[in-house]
Amino acid sequence: MYVTAIIAAGGQGLRFGGERLKQLVEIGAASLLERSVSAFVDHPNVSEVVVALPADLAVAPPAWLRQLRKPLAIVAGGARRQDSVANGLRAASAASEIIVVHDAARPFVTADLIARTIAAAVESGAALAAVPARDTVKRTASAANPAEAGSHGREGREVVETIPRDEIYLAQTPQAFRRGVLEAALALGHEATDEAALAEQAGYTVRIVEGEARNIKVTTPEDLPIAQAIAREIDEGAGRASGGRSRVRIGTGYDLHRLVEGRPLVLGGVTIPFDRGLAGHSDADAICHAVTDAVLGAAAAGDIGRHFPDSDPRWKDASSIDLLRRAAAIVRAAGYTVGNVDVVVIAERPKLGPFVEEMRARVAEALGADVSAVSVKGKTNEGVGELGRGEAVAVHAVAILA
Ligand code: MG
Repeated sequence: MYVTAIIAAGGQGLRFGGERLKQLVEIGAASLLERSVSAFVDHPNVSEVVVALPADLAVAPPAWLRQLRKPLAIVAGGARRQDSVANGLRAASAASEIIVVHDAARPFVTADLIARTIAAAVESGAALAAVPARDTVKRTASAANPAEAGSHGREGREVVETIPRDEIYLAQTPQAFRRGVLEAALALGHEATDEAALAEQAGYTVRIVEGEARNIKVTTPEDLPIAQAIAREIDEGAGRASGGRSRVRIGTGYDLHRLVEGRPLVLGGVTIPFDRGLAGHSDADAICHAVTDAVLGAAAAGDIGRHFPDSDPRWKDASSIDLLRRAAAIVRAAGYTVGNVDVVVIAERPKLGPFVEEMRARVAEALGADVSAVSVKGKTNEGVGELGRGEAVAVHAVAILA
C-alpha cells in the first residue's frame, strides 16, 4: 500500500518566540524538523514524505533534506495548518492511498505509533493518535462570550461543568486518512486545529489510536527542557542499541596495477601524459578502484569485484570513474552520505602534483561530494622495491561515511 507522510512544518512558531524558527531548534543531536522527518523517512510502511515548510525555508531548505533515502517533496506551507496539509496533498503521488499527517513539533513519534495509526486508517478511513486525559477536565464559559467569562479574563473564569474524564482524549499526531476522506475533509474549508476534526465534521468515523505520553508537542520555550531530557534518553538508548558506536563509518581500500607500455595512464579519472600506463581490465584507474572499495567497505556493502566483476561484459570497458559513481549510489541507497575521502598514490613517476586538483574534482563529482571532501596525495617509494623501480602504481584510500 502506497503511504504518503505529510509533515506539517509550515508555521512560524509564533508562540515560541526567539530568533530561529522553532522547526530548526536542536533537540539533542538533531533539530525538531530532522527528528520528525526522520521518523517517517525511516519507517518501512511510509512510501514517500512531503514536508510543508515556511515559504522562505521551502526555497532554501536545509541540505540534509535533499539527501534522504526516500522520495521527498518540499512544499510551501499555507496560512493555516490545513492549508499546509492541502499543499502537501497536492504534491503527493497519484498512487498514494493513505495519507498520514504529522506535526513537526512532535519530534518523538515512534515507529510503532506510526504503524498503528496507519493500520487503523486502513481499516476505518480516519484515525488519530490521542492520549486519555489524566487530569479532571472542567469546562468554563467560552472566551467568545466575555460577559459570561467573568471580569478576570482567563484567570477568573467560572466552571460551567466537570466533564467525565474517561470520555476525554487529547489529540496528538500522527493522524492518518484514506486519501478520499482527507480530500473531502479539507474540501469543507472549515477552520479546525487538526485534520481529524475536519474528517469528523465531514461525517466520517474517526478512530482513536492509543498515543504516547512522550509524543509531546514542543510549543513554547518552556517545553524545551522536557524535550531535551526525552531526546537525551532516546539518543543514549540508540547509542546503547548500536553497541555505543556512532553512526560514522570508516572504510579502507587498496589497489595496485602494473605499469606497462602501450596503455594510457588514467588516475582519478584524469588521463596523464606518460610513456606507460596501468595494465588491467577497463582503464585500470587504481585511484577510482581503491576509493570504490573504501566507500563500499565503509558501508559493509562488499567490494568492487562483487559489484562490477570483470567477468561481466557490462563492465568490460566501463570507465572506473563511472564505477565509482555507481558505488556512491549504492552507499547512498544504504542510507549513508560520503563524509570525506583521503587517498595516497605511490608512484615513482610521473610527478602527480600538476594533476592532483583535477583528480580531486573528478573523484568528488563521482562521489556527489564537495571537492573539499576529497584529498589526493602523491608519494614515491624512494626507489625501494617494485614500486620504487616504477613497475607498478599502488593506491591506498580511506573513506568516512555518515
Ligand atoms: Mg584495480
